Amino acid sequence: MMKSLLIANRGEIACRVIKTARRMGIRTVAVYSDADADALHVRMADEAVHIGAAPTRESYLVGDKIIAAAKQTGAEAIHPGYGFLSENAEFAQAVMDAGLIWVGPLPKSITAMGLKDAAKKLMDDAGVPVTPGYMGENQNPNHLKLEADKIGYPVLIKAVAGGGGKGMRLVEQADEFLDALTSCKREASASFGNDHVLIEKYILSPRHIEVQVFGDSHGNVVHLFERDCSLQRRHQKVVEEAPAPGMDEATRLELCAAAVRAAKAVDYRGAGTIEFIADGSEGLRADRIWFMEMNTRLQVEHPVTEEITGVDLVEWQLRVASGEPLPKRQDELSINGWAMEVRLYAEDPSKGFLPSIGKLDVFDYSDPMVRVDTGVEEGAEISPHYDPMIAKLIVHGDTREEAIADLRYALDAGECGPLITNAGFLFRVLGDEEFASGTMDTGLIGRKLEELTARPEPSLEGLQTAVGELLGRGGNGPWGLAGGLRLNAAPRRQMRVTDQHGRDFDVALAGVSDEQPKRVAVINEGGERFVIKPWRAHGGADGGVGSGSILAPMPGRVIAVEVTAGQTVTKGQKLLTLEAMKMEHTLTAPFDGVVEAVNCAAGDQVQVDVLLIRLENLE
Ligand code: ADP
Ligand code: ADP
Ligand code: MG
Repeated sequence: MMKSLLIANRGEIACRVIKTARRMGIRTVAVYSDADADALHVRMADEAVHIGAAPTRESYLVGDKIIAAAKQTGAEAIHPGYGFLSENAEFAQAVMDAGLIWVGPLPKSITAMGLKDAAKKLMDDAGVPVTPGYMGENQNPNHLKLEADKIGYPVLIKAVAGGGGKGMRLVEQADEFLDALTSCKREASASFGNDHVLIEKYILSPRHIEVQVFGDSHGNVVHLFERDCSLQRRHQKVVEEAPAPGMDEATRLELCAAAVRAAKAVDYRGAGTIEFIADGSEGLRADRIWFMEMNTRLQVEHPVTEEITGVDLVEWQLRVASGEPLPKRQDELSINGWAMEVRLYAEDPSKGFLPSIGKLDVFDYSDPMVRVDTGVEEGAEISPHYDPMIAKLIVHGDTREEAIADLRYALDAGECGPLITNAGFLFRVLGDEEFASGTMDTGLIGRKLEELTARPEPSLEGLQTAVGELLGRGGNGPWGLAGGLRLNAAPRRQMRVTDQHGRDFDVALAGVSDEQPKRVAVINEGGERFVIKPWRAHGGADGGVGSGSILAPMPGRVIAVEVTAGQTVTKGQKLLTLEAMKMEHTLTAPFDGVVEAVNCAAGDQVQVDVLLIRLENLE
């Protein structure tokens, strides 16, 4: 077994790999960019090497720096995690050429599966059913159009080098094909430096089913059953579970055998995933499940497989990379219970999932039922440079119903802020009836987007507790009466409060004691976090949308200021445009008022919560 390991990644996956390596007595080396100097993965590792500036092209994507860091620290092996260099065959080769152990598949296996068209041809030859479509060399637009016509609409145009849900276009009818092709090729060449596409029949009632496979350097390949990742938004996974609901044993056997054939066809070593698309219109049937692509790495959602099989997949990766045979035979692997994972993101579903980077003053998902795979701790900051995933929440129950209930409970009881997360959205997704029935397809979230992303109002009970705290009556429950007061004897108080989204609520409350009142009370329910403050007619100095202080919702650059001091504005009027995370964001007047002061100018770089404009409320 190797004695030391460098992890060429950051965030939760770096922490995940370090955990297992430590348990196995392997010395760990982290790498980090300027933005990650204080990151958890750096503190968890035995040693850490700085590899450059925050942009990934200057740090986490520079193979030479990573190999140099391994040499410098005497690390024997490199684990790439997922993303970044994990599916880069040249990097894998360079690691091996430097005399280091590459914790991953052979470069030739990565290359064979790297482009979707070549991979599909290879799988077809290996007897694995592939999604029907055109995967030929001829990229002439008119030829591609003819092929699409032959396949029959709807079709999906896919960049052969695509990944992460990018470089795909759904075409519903023939006359939309050429425009979609042009825009797909443009995106593909910008994002992947390769504008070749393939065309696939768009599978109706699509379900994303994938199989975890594992190979070693002695020619053994096993599968660790399937995962269902059908809950997606824009072709990106939101909820993942194992096993797949509605999968019968015969179908499972056939599917998993096809996945093992696929892995064997490329002499696969280490952890890999064979992704399939299923037509779920009549349940899961082996003759309606087709190969889509292979991911030649550990997958984000690998924990659900670990939970149902009891296997530590990172441990297996390290053993196999050290030349050991697979720790278990196929007949020693079985499914135990049901596991489910959600990806907790710093993003605002009610604003088109705009990344909501900033501080994590509170981050508490300490319910013992839930496994939290994360790369951050309370007090950390989610940086604008990388993927805004905060954590993965994973549960394991006896049944699917139990897993759903536990995960919803974890989201309800947990707390994360002040940056905005998708926790409430996830809570509602998991509460969907179609999802509960197990008949969901990949379009479910898209169809119900409005109801799933609408920001709910806090409950009456929540508001009453909050107002109790604002008035100095914390800890007694909403209508619980302290000190033996009787309801009809209690003084009634009415208070107007506002939440951080600028919504006002009038709340009546009885039984006010003389405890110390608070300035702010937080309500946590259903994954949502509401920050409640007393309402002020003329915004107080402490800001908030309900007041007259217009604060920067995230760090960014002011592009345009539309108003000047002294100007009268009406509710909804455009005040200022901010560019953040490569998107433009308009700030509008929350009420009719007068501009008291403008504290910024076009071109200014501003931090989150900086006061940009003050308004006097005239409503
Ligand atoms: P999964 O979530 O199933 O593991 P994804 O396709 O969502 O797989 O990708 C996982 C990680 O790899 C993400 O961080 C994603 O951004 C990254 N990724 C996937 N494909 C590419 C690619 N072609 N280029 C760059 N990053 C990629
Ligand atoms: P990526 O490399 O971006 O992960 P995939 O080929 O794995 O690309 O496809 C991503 C997602 O797009 C799938 O999980 C599925 O939801 C959808 N998809 C892909 N191919 C098809 C298809 N032929 N029919 C319907 N949906 C598809
Ligand atoms: Mg995929």
